[in-house]
Amino acid sequence: MYAVIQAGGAGTRLKAITGDLPKVMVELNGKPIIEWQIESLKRSGIQDLVIIISKNGKLISDYCGDGKKFGVNISYIKEESPLGTAGGLYFAKEIIKDDFILCFGDLMLDVDWMRFHRFHKEKGSSLTAFAHPNSHPFDSDLLVTDDEEKIIKIDSKHNIRDYYYENLTNAGLYVCSKEVLDFIKEPEKIDFEKVVLKHFVEEGKAYAYRSSEYVKDCGTPDRYYSVEKDLKNGIIHSKSLSNLQKCIFLDRDGTINKYRGLVKKTDELELADDAALAIKAINESSYLAICATNQPVIARGDTTFEELKNIHNKMETLLGKGGAYLDGLYFCPHHPAGGFEGEVPELKFDCECRKPKIGLLKKAQERFNIDLSKSWFIGDTDRDIQTGINAGCRTIFLDTTPNPPIRFVDAKPDFVCHSLSEAVNLILTLERGEHD
Ligand SMILES: [Zn+2]
Repeated sequence: MYAVIQAGGAGTRLKAITGDLPKVMVELNGKPIIEWQIESLKRSGIQDLVIIISKNGKLISDYCGDGKKFGVNISYIKEESPLGTAGGLYFAKEIIKDDFILCFGDLMLDVDWMRFHRFHKEKGSSLTAFAHPNSHPFDSDLLVTDDEEKIIKIDSKHNIRDYYYENLTNAGLYVCSKEVLDFIKEPEKIDFEKVVLKHFVEEGKAYAYRSSEYVKDCGTPDRYYSVEKDLKNGIIHSKSLSNLQKCIFLDRDGTINKYRGLVKKTDELELADDAALAIKAINESSYLAICATNQPVIARGDTTFEELKNIHNKMETLLGKGGAYLDGLYFCPHHPAGGFEGEVPELKFDCECRKPKIGLLKKAQERFNIDLSKSWFIGDTDRDIQTGINAGCRTIFLDTTPNPPIRFVDAKPDFVCHSLSEAVNLILTLERGEHD
């Protein structure tokens, strides 16, 4: 498979650090960004690269050459006049005849590219955007997706958002099918997001690949220094999904939001006072934060999938305002016992995902390459604790919910805490101890 690196941009905002260097030649730990990208691609077995350069790209082609010194093959597309972020792809048609990766040159990253490509194939996608939640969704462009992870629309940061939204932003990496090249009819100035992505979204052929991997731009001095720190601490490589990940699984009701019985309407959800703070601490650690929740309210006909989506959007919106995000959210809509008025018969069965079964955790494990034995489950019922035990995780019981029903007498948690913050701090303190 080919990868195309779009290296045409100039590094104006980074002038203080780099002078007139092209962005991709900005060095981190003694290597230019483009070399970190090439190394990441090569680790996934991608050895055929096309680099798009502008007129002042000689520095790039002099440094990378034919790629032999990195163990890859590099060819170049040189733009005589600026063609935007997509126009240069016109010239890639002669070289690329199949799926390819498109990577924007100022991104510091490490990604399991084959996992990304597998998702593209499984969805039958024409254009797949690498997507992730961030700590400031309120001022970011957002991708709006359906249950199948198809992108329905792009929610511009300039919109007045008087509604709840999913925290999902476009990182600037894509898997493209050949169709994307066919779409570029002329070698003219074309914007990838505003024209190409927009087209495939409108056609219903674009998907969002939600990943927890590290992809950040170094476009301002502040961001540059924070990325440099992450590189020195080994965070960038360790977040690649080619490496096993550790996760803190979180129950929802009584753990992330205040326990108020079953939540049937968006209005009824209220975050726990310390939820954003606690989850932000997870986001800044080496753990993933993933919510796993039973929502039998769907099977019972008490609420709809649509309302549940809005409830979850509210949770993500409120967490986002506190600078926190969930890497993933998995729910079980089923319920085993029939006989309720208004129930949804096709969701009434003994499924594999209703906690304390571990179907939800298995799904997350597959997507994020999680080592369950190094992971934790935090919840406010013995059902949660039993789930954690069944999955081989360590567990923390939150005694935040008055009189929780006791069902599993054998479900003994490793620890009992009185708030989510206390539980997360305990895990992170233990983690530091185990490393010393
Ligand atoms: Zn289920």
